[in-house]
Amino acid sequence: MRSLRLLLTALVLSAGTLGQRARRIAIVGGGPAGAASAYFARHELQQHNTPADIHVFERLPRLGGRAHVGTVEYANRTLYFEQGASMFIGKNRHLVDLARSFNLTLCPHPCTLHPADKRPTDDDMVVDAGMLGAYGIWDPLPGPVSGPGRWVVRRHGDQWLRDMLRALWRYGGLGDLRRVRRQTREAVDQFMQSYDQFSRPHDGVYASWDAYLADRPALQQSLYYRAAELYSHGATRISQRFLREVVSLATRVNYMQDVDSISAVGAHISMAAESDEAYSVAGGNHQVFDSMLGHSAEVHLGKEVVAVERNGTGYRLVTTDGVEDGVFDTVIIAAPLPLTKIRLPEGLEDLKSAVKAEYVRMHVTFVIGTLRDDLFPSDTLRLPRLVVTPYGTTLPFNCLSILACLDGTQQCGRPGSLALFKLFSHAPIDLPQVFAHVQWHRRNTWHAYPRLEPRNGNKYGGGEGDESGAFHLPRKSLPPIVLDRMDDAGVFYVNGMETVFSTMESQTVAARHVVRLALFGENFPS
Ligand SMILES: Cc1cc2nc3c(=O)[nH]c(=O)nc-3n(C[C@H](O)[C@H](O)[C@H](O)COP(=O)(O)OP(=O)(O)OC[C@H]3O[C@@H](n4cnc5c(N)ncnc54)[C@H](O)[C@@H]3O)c2cc1C
Repeated sequence: MRSLRLLLTALVLSAGTLGQRARRIAIVGGGPAGAASAYFARHELQQHNTPADIHVFERLPRLGGRAHVGTVEYANRTLYFEQGASMFIGKNRHLVDLARSFNLTLCPHPCTLHPADKRPTDDDMVVDAGMLGAYGIWDPLPGPVSGPGRWVVRRHGDQWLRDMLRALWRYGGLGDLRRVRRQTREAVDQFMQSYDQFSRPHDGVYASWDAYLADRPALQQSLYYRAAELYSHGATRISQRFLREVVSLATRVNYMQDVDSISAVGAHISMAAESDEAYSVAGGNHQVFDSMLGHSAEVHLGKEVVAVERNGTGYRLVTTDGVEDGVFDTVIIAAPLPLTKIRLPEGLEDLKSAVKAEYVRMHVTFVIGTLRDDLFPSDTLRLPRLVVTPYGTTLPFNCLSILACLDGTQQCGRPGSLALFKLFSHAPIDLPQVFAHVQWHRRNTWHAYPRLEPRNGNKYGGGEGDESGAFHLPRKSLPPIVLDRMDDAGVFYVNGMETVFSTMESQTVAARHVVRLALFGENFPS
């Protein structure tokens, strides 16, 4: 059925282009970036009446990359849960529009629904709306976890006025929040200019990520400084308390980093994620990427690319099965190069250090069980949906969240109630330290995303403590997009963008930029 669809796609695409040689494109990786590379390459070439022969090589026997769904059976139901990338926000236009166009169900995050479910019902063990906004910073107190820690902050979610008054008192008004939001909005809006550029044929073709950022000064500046520095200097001047409790909570949940180590752009993206509607696709986010590929490329699963070699006017791919058939005009690497064993064409060995990035190694643990009663203060009548440990703390976990309420929504978060929990941590979770009873569990480890380091060596303006707010130009370049070029052929790299920030959406946007550069370079056809 799939090959018939591809054949029909090929026939439709070749109408009006007969006699023209098809552009042969190889894409390494079937995650969000690889799927978007194939989808947008097909789209761009179709617009310019150029036939295309697009192949995606994926090392694993499945698509989706770090968007990887898991399932568990409970009470005659199958619960779906995201083991890797779990949510996207309403502003993520590619994901939202594509999910809708493929008739997939957008579901409020967290979502454990079956792909065919259109919306949650009462018996779906969902986390009720009142609880969605509830979070707490819980301090386990020093030493082994043996007694109740203390709540540093609690937000109830369903008690809007009480939450608001407490926040006003704790942070001395709304000034800090407003100032952080202003910075966040500016950087996010500049990222979003990409969508407008895509609608203009000659716009949005960048030869490097540095050129891309030069057009986006707020994003560029935010990449070069630590969040703690950018937010507490010059006109912004956010209080330490707000930084460590509100901003660090967001950065810990989204990137496993605290405000004093993460770049400001990492903080902006984390804050944006916390202040917009969050969605998942019912049955798994990977379906968006499966569908993009189903419409655009021939997929080779279980094929790990180990080398890209020059061959005449194009490139050959070597996989663990041997040399692949045919020569490709364009090779797009849509996987983190520092984590692969790919050998690049001769003479490009120096690129190894240019693409270098340190990926955060994290543990994600899923548990069906009940929490230890003595972990939280005895007056904790209901646990917030999200529990985060304070700034600077990594044990017993970075964060714990409730994905599904297995004793019904009324009982959710109450002492002794059964739930599906998800925990993020830097070290493997010691289950008896956290849970009174474990019915089922699954552990995953990931090289999740690059550590979002400030690229200017932590110096704000002229140096530590400089309050002038002056922005000094970056010293370090971002990883290159163009790895090799031969006339119309070339090898391109998408995942350098991950060192700016890493999300499913931004990888689809990065892929679209790379495709435009790879196909048309500076000479965009009219
Ligand atoms: C635990 C976790 C939570 C996250 N949470 C979120 C979230 O809530 N929201 C969000 O937007 N993002 C989240 N992310 C980040 C998100 O997953 C990444 O930004 C995104 O998946 C990157 O897409 P990609 O296609 O560039 O890379 P990947 O998703 O890693 O895809 C690359 C693909 O290339 C394949 N590959 C690698 N080497 C080779 C080779 N040599 N030959 C062939 N194939 C190869 C890999 O198997 C993989 O399938 C999270 C990530 C993790 C791990």
